Amino acid sequence: MNKSINLNALALMNMGLVNAPVIGELPPIENSGQRVVVAKNGVFIQFVGNWLEVIKRVGNISASVPYGSIEEKIDLRFKKFPREMFTQFHEQAKASFPNEAFAYIHWNRETNQICLVPGVVLKATGDEISYGRVDIEDGWQCIGDIHSHPNSIAFYSELDNDDDKTGVKCSFVMGLDSEKAMNSLRGRFCVFGTYTEMDASYT
Ligand SMILES: [Zn+2]
Repeated sequence: MNKSINLNALALMNMGLVNAPVIGELPPIENSGQRVVVAKNGVFIQFVGNWLEVIKRVGNISASVPYGSIEEKIDLRFKKFPREMFTQFHEQAKASFPNEAFAYIHWNRETNQICLVPGVVLKATGDEISYGRVDIEDGWQCIGDIHSHPNSIAFYSELDNDDDKTGVKCSFVMGLDSEKAMNSLRGRFCVFGTYTEMDASYT
């Protein structure tokens, strides 16, 4: 077997490809994983993880293909990000002001709890921050992160887009005004470089 065949098999193992059924349900993804679903109404990515199931439309189909249609969806296992998480991060962001602050968001598979784990800051300025990895305790997993924009509003910079372009995660930005008050908060689900802005129902 030559190398290109192995790489092709590996690519499909990493992200499978199915068509949306005309009749009946999309067959479930066993346990967890991700795949591309080609449907009559577009091309979708489906991701099933411990904390999240998402079906995200990522492309158009201009031809009439003989498949079924599917709908976008986002199902969070824990339904909402707790308000305390943002209150706690606001304190961290005030303490780091006028430099940026950063924290990982960890989720517990057993208890459904969410906690913030501040990143080990390597360097921070008013518009950039670099941080090291942190240990993850048993039963917990990292599902995303949050950072602050001091003296600014919450928006996603090119740097933020670069940080969020791989894998599946949630990403929050908190804007702080010159008085260190939170002036804005934005969150999004990042799915392999595509983004879905969160609405208030998630927080
Ligand atoms: Zn940013």
